[in-house]
Amino acid sequence: MNYKFGLPVEIIFKCGAVKNINKVIKDNNFKKGILISSERFINSEYGQEILQLLSENVKNIHFGISINPTIEDVERTTKAIKESDADFVIALGGGSILDCAKISSCMAAMDTNIRYFLENKLEINKNIPVIALPTTSGTGSEVTSVSVISDTHTEDKFPIKSYYLYPKIAIIDPELTLTVPKKVTASSGIDVLSHALESYYSKNNNPISDILAIESVKIVMNNLKNAVNNLDNIEYRENMCQASLLAGMAFSVTGTAACHGISYPLTSKYNIPHGEACGITQDKVLLLNSKVEFDRIDKLSKDVGYANVEEFVDEIYKLKKDIGLANNLRNYNIKKDELETIANLCTSLNIFANPYELNKEEILKLLQSIY
Ligand SMILES: [Zn+2]
Repeated sequence: MNYKFGLPVEIIFKCGAVKNINKVIKDNNFKKGILISSERFINSEYGQEILQLLSENVKNIHFGISINPTIEDVERTTKAIKESDADFVIALGGGSILDCAKISSCMAAMDTNIRYFLENKLEINKNIPVIALPTTSGTGSEVTSVSVISDTHTEDKFPIKSYYLYPKIAIIDPELTLTVPKKVTASSGIDVLSHALESYYSKNNNPISDILAIESVKIVMNNLKNAVNNLDNIEYRENMCQASLLAGMAFSVTGTAACHGISYPLTSKYNIPHGEACGITQDKVLLLNSKVEFDRIDKLSKDVGYANVEEFVDEIYKLKKDIGLANNLRNYNIKKDELETIANLCTSLNIFANPYELNKEEILKLLQSIY
């Protein structure tokens, strides 16, 4: 065995944890913060409560970040952070807000802008500390060193990875997820499953990430359908938050693999929500991976309660159907003759972390099999 595992994020997991946010701010000696969130959340009952709580230390609020954060979103957010002169950033929202706040906190600390940073292939070397408060259970961004950004001109979506993208503190309060609508609960829940499975079968897997990933898969398979059908049940929400956190911790170290790599053009070109775009190939890719990693995938299938990989794959397919997600690309207004273009756009490095080698032809075959 030969591996590294580290996570520089303080994790606070508790129903109602957000009520203690001022203690967290005080304990860290933070003085002046900026809140990055969405208008919808800030106007909700929870949002107003949090705003009230933060009134002493947070005078600036910034919102208006796209569902898939763009270079322009990062530019605007960086400018807002710089102008606020903040010594900490609170990211309160779903994955897009967390991702945008994390990368913008680095750009602001480095006194640069994202375009210049990307064009000159700079290295991130500092950040303004981020307190991440996820309001969905899916992205895992609260514990990862990754921000995913979209370029609207090139229709490209790509991950940026750096140690400085880790939030300093992740406050996971399952009560914040109670207002997440059915469709988003389903889509972000399948994203959790994808993070856990891809971390497990990634070539970068290690014994600790395996334990986290297996437990996360188990929780998703036992709770996601119930969470989608009982949106105000705090127990299912809490379990999905736990699954999301464990999967986030796992893929923070291993990265994701083929399904995330293939999802990027599906999201940037066809606007398929991130979780759905990753989930749509998940059962097929798991089966392909079992051809080259039979023992590991067989062990995973059994560990999470199924007789074999075929039964597990069937259950994933059924779960997606039961929670209202599509299993076929034709449901997303994609024409069959566009599949080749999509396959050509699958250039993300994540695909190379997949144990079953997926070249352009193989990806095209895969896309055709789920058309
Ligand atoms: Zn994801």
